[in-house]
Amino acid sequence: MRIRIAFALIGAAVLSLASQANAEEKKVGHRDTPMLPGGKWHVHDSERPQPTAVTPGTFSTQETPGKPPSDAVVLFDGTDTSKFQSMKGGPAPWKVENGVMVASGGDIRTKEEFGDCQFHIEWTTPDPPFGDIMNRGNSGVYFFGRYEVQIFESYKAGIYADGQAAAIYGQFPPLVNASRKPGEWQTYDIILTAPRFKDGKLEKPACMTVLHNGVVVHNHTELLGATGHRILPKYTPHEAKGFILLQDHGNPVRFRNIWVRPVKDYDEP
Ligand code: MG
Repeated sequence: MRIRIAFALIGAAVLSLASQANAEEKKVGHRDTPMLPGGKWHVHDSERPQPTAVTPGTFSTQETPGKPPSDAVVLFDGTDTSKFQSMKGGPAPWKVENGVMVASGGDIRTKEEFGDCQFHIEWTTPDPPFGDIMNRGNSGVYFFGRYEVQIFESYKAGIYADGQAAAIYGQFPPLVNASRKPGEWQTYDIILTAPRFKDGKLEKPACMTVLHNGVVVHNHTELLGATGHRILPKYTPHEAKGFILLQDHGNPVRFRNIWVRPVKDYDEP
């Protein structure tokens, strides 16, 4: 009996210490400091909520794809194409072979829709190269089905600057050409801020930051509008969220490890 009481006391003491620590943790910070612009939080505000914990992913090697962060929406993990559908309707026609998805049978799109987001994709163009100089290893990622980051075989110069790998097609060439050889795995990490429309007019253009194989190739670049070919880009109003399209341009470009994380604004629940 005495032992039980002793354990109960120890337990209570531990709990009380833990709750004291919690309370002290909550008290860390200040409320007598200047107000930050926006009038919501003080500098070092003790009441400002802590960010949600996320377990980071791992980086890929040529041999093995990495792991997505714990809060990512996984679009393709090597298993199947169930997170996509055909643009023509019905299931995605792309083949999955040995954990890799191969472009074939037409464009595909995500079933789910996304707005502001962080997007990761790994791709490789055929080796030996497939297609002529204007269409070599051609594919692409289209946010909202209309803003394209080009996928292309650009290890050696070929197509016009704003059509090569990592170009925001028809608008901005990448700042540098960080392409790997045909047959090698390449990565895009894209941070997209969706455009904002108000009363049927553009309020704020779309904005992209793009890393190609870990190298910054677009730095918070404002897009001129939807992707076009031989025409000036322009905006047409659309919803806050839209699908992400992967292009089948008749090239058997291969894909692995595709994920996306919706990105919220500060203090957004
Ligand atoms: Mg393309």
